[in-house]
Amino acid sequence: MQPKIYHANDHDIDPALIDTDAIYVLKKLKEAGFLAYLVGGSVRDLLAKKVPKDFDISTSARPEQIKQVFQRNCLLIGRRFRLAHIRFGSKILEVSTFRSGDNDSDLIVHDNIWGSPEEDALRRDFTMNGLFYDPSTHTIIDYVGGWNDIHHHLLKTIGDPSIRFKQDPVRMIRLLKFCARFGFTIEPSTMRALTKCLDEIVKSSPARILEEMLRMLESGASAPFFKLLSETGMLELLFPCLEHFMQGNHGKEVYHLLSTADKIQGNNTKKTIDRAILTACLLFPILEREIHATFLQHNKIPHYGEIMDLTNSLIKGILISSFSNFPKRLSAEVAFILSTQYRLVPLDNTRHNRTRILHNREFELALKFLKLRALANNDLVEAYTHWSEKAKHN
Ligand code: ATP
Ligand code: MG
Repeated sequence: MQPKIYHANDHDIDPALIDTDAIYVLKKLKEAGFLAYLVGGSVRDLLAKKVPKDFDISTSARPEQIKQVFQRNCLLIGRRFRLAHIRFGSKILEVSTFRSGDNDSDLIVHDNIWGSPEEDALRRDFTMNGLFYDPSTHTIIDYVGGWNDIHHHLLKTIGDPSIRFKQDPVRMIRLLKFCARFGFTIEPSTMRALTKCLDEIVKSSPARILEEMLRMLESGASAPFFKLLSETGMLELLFPCLEHFMQGNHGKEVYHLLSTADKIQGNNTKKTIDRAILTACLLFPILEREIHATFLQHNKIPHYGEIMDLTNSLIKGILISSFSNFPKRLSAEVAFILSTQYRLVPLDNTRHNRTRILHNREFELALKFLKLRALANNDLVEAYTHWSEKAKHN
């Protein structure tokens, strides 16, 4: 199949937004006689006028050949899905060999079957993610209709959506992620397939689901993303307890905290708010509700140990029951951030002047979360200012 080619005068990609190291890698691969293009998210973001956060490269060079070109700066990783990582200081560029994917079978069995550029484009998830770009000629190579779909703000799978979602159910979460991030419309047959295949999500790897969720919390579009998860029924399947809370009044507060985090995050995808703080946005309003129902409603003020216990059981009930692999360090940080809020803003309205907690390694995280809460709720500005002054002078 002949791809559609779009030239420099067809598009207004700003070359200044392209990473110079990525341009260097593409140039070296081409000089060594291989085909090499920017691919996936970066091409999509450049066309949609967003600043790409990473620049993936696809090439006709096999992993060993990539290694020969970049020598010591290149590390080959992954057994099932072999990739080259090219290192530039602390930055890593991912270079993968064109692959073919068996688009019509129900299950992906081999990931390392090398293919043509066309096959590589066809194995990708959505048309918006299937474009190649060659910065040396400023041309876009489109085998999948991604150009038109991006310009029509349309989200569409490459190939039959039901087959593609069954092959890899994480694609359904990715669909909602792109929908939240770009505000594009989901094309009707892709939407129907999502409804039909929704239950398949529980078959996919918890680690991959968790990674997509955490990345979405960092994306600057976490509130619309969780709204979509809830509306489609995906949240019910992934975090049944969270869905239950999101339906009530406290759901609004969760969305309010997430929107505040999104505002702070803005378009800055490089420097992200800590994952523990973002996870705390999901849980804090629920903890508040539990504390109210268990103690305050009965005119009791819980002591710190009781708050810790409640926090831990909430984390267990919501995060750990859904993801047995939920990272221990992350859940410990979330627990600290949540329970410390009641030291920073005590329930009995007494002002805590004990400064012992200022020396805690994780205190900074708890204070940053209080800052986020204060941005969402003016009443907390004073408490935040008090503690941030104390922290400065310690
Ligand atoms: P982000 O901006 O969040 O990184 P992305 O599209 O770059 O979005 P990545 O996870 O970095 O997402 O994946 C890079 C590319 O790999 C995608 O653009 C897509 O072409 C392809 N891809 C990723 N996940 C899948 C999948 N589950 N199925 C098919 N193709 C995928
Ligand atoms: Mg990416």
